[in-house]
Amino acid sequence: MNDPESLGLVYDHDLDSLLGIFEDWGEPTYRGKQIWEGLYRNLWGNPSEFTNISNILREKLADNFSFNHLSPISNLESKDKLTQKSLFRLTDGKTIEAVLMRYNKRCTLCISTQVGCAMGCTFCATGQMGFGRNLSSGEIVEQVIFFSRYLKKEDKRPTNIVVMGMGEPLHNYESTIQAIRQLNHPDGFNLGMRRITVSTVGIIPAIRRFAKDLPQVNLAISLHAADDELRSSMLPINEKYPIHDLMQTCREYTKQTGRRISFEWTLIQGINDTFEQAQKLSRLIEGMLCHVNLVPLNPTNGYDGKKSSRERAKAFKSELESHKIPCTIRVRRGIEILAGCGQLATNN
Ligand code: SAH
Ligand code: SF4
Repeated sequence: MNDPESLGLVYDHDLDSLLGIFEDWGEPTYRGKQIWEGLYRNLWGNPSEFTNISNILREKLADNFSFNHLSPISNLESKDKLTQKSLFRLTDGKTIEAVLMRYNKRCTLCISTQVGCAMGCTFCATGQMGFGRNLSSGEIVEQVIFFSRYLKKEDKRPTNIVVMGMGEPLHNYESTIQAIRQLNHPDGFNLGMRRITVSTVGIIPAIRRFAKDLPQVNLAISLHAADDELRSSMLPINEKYPIHDLMQTCREYTKQTGRRISFEWTLIQGINDTFEQAQKLSRLIEGMLCHVNLVPLNPTNGYDGKKSSRERAKAFKSELESHKIPCTIRVRRGIEILAGCGQLATNN
């Protein structure tokens, strides 16, 4: 065989799949483990780096697998150097982005799961693009490997992953789950499930599955509005999965997993930052095991809304706190490098 694509991207394979392939090639089981370690511990990105295996097997790897599907085409760093955003070209020419954020000794990666997004949230740059395609699990994993190699030069590694880049992760369920399992594998990358956060627009059946499949992974729900009329006008998926049903699913989730849910709330001046919305939100989630993240809107080309003022954000927070709802105003990071969801790919 002489087709590097015949077995596809090496990161698309989980350990069992690789072991199966090496077994077919007549290799002992430990060989597969050596290669898994090479990929996920040593972060080797080229078959020639696998000095722990024979020349012949190295050639076989090169002949059958592709070792990268992501080519970095631009890198932007914020002025304070704490946020770095990369735009990657995929093998079909489409582009995705991922962001590295360094705060409080953490190195957090924000990664994408789709090219564009089918959910069409009005204020979101990725939603404004429409849907391109799902990423494969390997294309999701490779974003993490790319930044891990970069951090390795400083003797660091990603401490946290947030699946909050382009796309709706639960609309690309299988690949997202497989990518997380691969990154969690103790013999390889070994990133703890509790260090990973998946953010969803609220696809109810997928949230239920997720609670069973990955109960240790943190779940964030993009709520943004506390009544169906407003939420449907911002997040069209709300027509299909309205707030009442979503809240019921969230309650089941906390009961079943014992885990706190994060609610994401992008603050838009005069739209969802009113006292009335804060009151309605309080009624919805009072007593729930949860936390609210208030994030002032990042401006995008396709949406007129403005971010809330600092005063409005504080007033909104106070109202939630008066109902004993834990709540944080998140600072906008890397705004000058368009580090909001989907903004680099749309401005390219
Ligand atoms: N599709 C998933 C994850 C990607 S979006 C989701 O919607 O949850 C990650 C977060 O960024 C979501 O909470 C989303 O609502 C928010 N977001 C999208 N556009 C934004 C903007 N222009 N400003 C601030 N937050 C935004
Ligand atoms: Fe998709 Fe999330 Fe953007 Fe909505 S906010 S369009 S679900 S990426």
